Amino acid sequence: MHILVINCGSSSLKADIINTINKETVAELRVERISTTPTIQINQNEITYSGIVNTEEIIRFSLLQLKQFDANIQINAIGHRVVHGGDKYTQPILINEDVEQQIEQLISLAPLHNPSNLSGIRICKQVFEGLPQVAVFDTAFHQTIPNRAKHYAIDKSVAEKYGIRRYGFHGTSLKYVSERVAEYLQTDIKHLRMVACHLGNGASICAVEFGRSAETSMGMTPLEGLVMGTRSGDIDPGIILSLIHEHKMSVEEVEELLNKNSGLSGLSGIGNDMRDILKQAEEGNEDCRMAIQVYTHRLTKYIGAYVALMGGVDVLLFTGGIGENAATIRKRVCNKLNFMGIVLDEDKNIYQKLTDEQDVIELQDSISRVKIVAVKTNEELAIALDTEKIVNEKNKVNSIPKIPIAISARHIHLKQETINKLFGEGYQLTEYKPLSQPGQYAANEKLTLIGPKNKIENVRILGPARNYDQVEISRTDEFFLGIDAPIRESGNIAGSPGIILEGPNSTVQIHEGVIQAWRHIHMHPDDAAMFGVHDKDIVSVDVEDKDRPLTFKNVLIRVSDKFKLEMHIDTDEGNAAQIHSGEEGVLELGGVSCQLHEKNI
Ligand code: ADP
Repeated sequence: MHILVINCGSSSLKADIINTINKETVAELRVERISTTPTIQINQNEITYSGIVNTEEIIRFSLLQLKQFDANIQINAIGHRVVHGGDKYTQPILINEDVEQQIEQLISLAPLHNPSNLSGIRICKQVFEGLPQVAVFDTAFHQTIPNRAKHYAIDKSVAEKYGIRRYGFHGTSLKYVSERVAEYLQTDIKHLRMVACHLGNGASICAVEFGRSAETSMGMTPLEGLVMGTRSGDIDPGIILSLIHEHKMSVEEVEELLNKNSGLSGLSGIGNDMRDILKQAEEGNEDCRMAIQVYTHRLTKYIGAYVALMGGVDVLLFTGGIGENAATIRKRVCNKLNFMGIVLDEDKNIYQKLTDEQDVIELQDSISRVKIVAVKTNEELAIALDTEKIVNEKNKVNSIPKIPIAISARHIHLKQETINKLFGEGYQLTEYKPLSQPGQYAANEKLTLIGPKNKIENVRILGPARNYDQVEISRTDEFFLGIDAPIRESGNIAGSPGIILEGPNSTVQIHEGVIQAWRHIHMHPDDAAMFGVHDKDIVSVDVEDKDRPLTFKNVLIRVSDKFKLEMHIDTDEGNAAQIHSGEEGVLELGGVSCQLHEKNI
């Protein structure tokens, strides 16, 4: 696929067309200083724009140029970097009207970012009409941080009213690099505790505990945490009040100070480029030396804190322009952390370089208990891959038929011999109504189930007669009756408990046959071929578009040319999930989790 990745900011637009097969960027558009003196480049070639300087017009014009740039490149989908996904989005999502509105509603949480992200989405809708668009949120990866890390210690009612909590950012990069490093180390990420330092112009650090973000340094806005290029990171909130009240700075001036004139730039006085700062520090510039000291002090402090939160660390990961390249910064930090078993190999740290071919390098000494790695981040590729995944899932889900779900109420199957005992010799069940499975019917006849604790009346018999007696009840029924029945496939009743069946004329004690039906899907061999499953496969079924979306795992496939496609769950399962008969499920992609072998039956 060719995915167009859009990062639409307030003063710049970055758009990359990425081939997701070889992971190469086939075209890149860069628009700088959009609202003042715009420059437009495609693959570093200057494009002239002669219209009026209007942000939306320039974005539209530039994207049209990119679209027409190479007739051989067919764009299949668009992935947008969206900075704030609020509480709502835990993963990338296909954009529709509803998602657009949600992003708009989140503007109050990210006034500097979400408006431009949204305008990128809206302009793309016009320029690339009909193409699927996916929003990939910077905040999504951090939705897993626990409440104790999310809360600021301020008045709860104020926090709730304004959505004030810690959200975290850089999630797309942090997820990508942590997964990449786990892959590189050939270790399941679920077994790794990582501290991931994303050190670019913006900087944040994340405790990636067994693959999930457990704590991160950016908060409600990308201003909290580490020292950044031009942002202050953590400061005493009292300073802001003091600047406004005592020193009469305007709110806008303070905003400018903290976002644009602080961090490395504010401390060094020579700008935010770490290369320049390192060079001048070497030449004796005291401010640059102090900038480096404050920068590494804060970073070291955070790493120590995150190791403490996770109760240990397996991997210390550096990424972003500084993390990937600045050996001096890595060394200053690691040297302080030797006591934690973080021991850098100084030669590797200086001489090993990340390249296009080598996107992860290991930097630890052989005695280090902790792996130290530098890894190339690639947010654009991460967005492209996420977008491709969502679009593929959508296409597959749309092309795979849904499975109707039926709720099975408690019922009874009987052999003719038991029917004779209950209703009289030679009695034939009479049809009340046909069931969805061909040839099967609900009978007019009903029985009372008598358990050790209670009885349940009016339980319907299903016909036709079988060659075994079987009573299918829910877990709630079991509690009520006082019976503990196993979950079984229909017909597999060996060793299950018995029960007393009371009919109009007599009572019969069956000695086995009470089960909870194993949730299952009836399907015709043609359906099985289409889904790529076989009789007795065990699969998962997603039920979405509900207040309680859920996945039924451990669903048994039953294939017969007498069956019609339908999933059967019992009343307890239906109630818990608020599903009604007639709703639909989707067979989970990648489907079969195992085969039911005879010994499991
Ligand atoms: P952004 O957050 O804008 O994507 P980057 O990840 O490109 O930023 O990081 C930019 C920072 O990385 C700058 O401070 C730059 O000086 C620093 N950097 C890039 N290369 C090196 C290097 N070789 N040595 C030290 N710092 C570097």
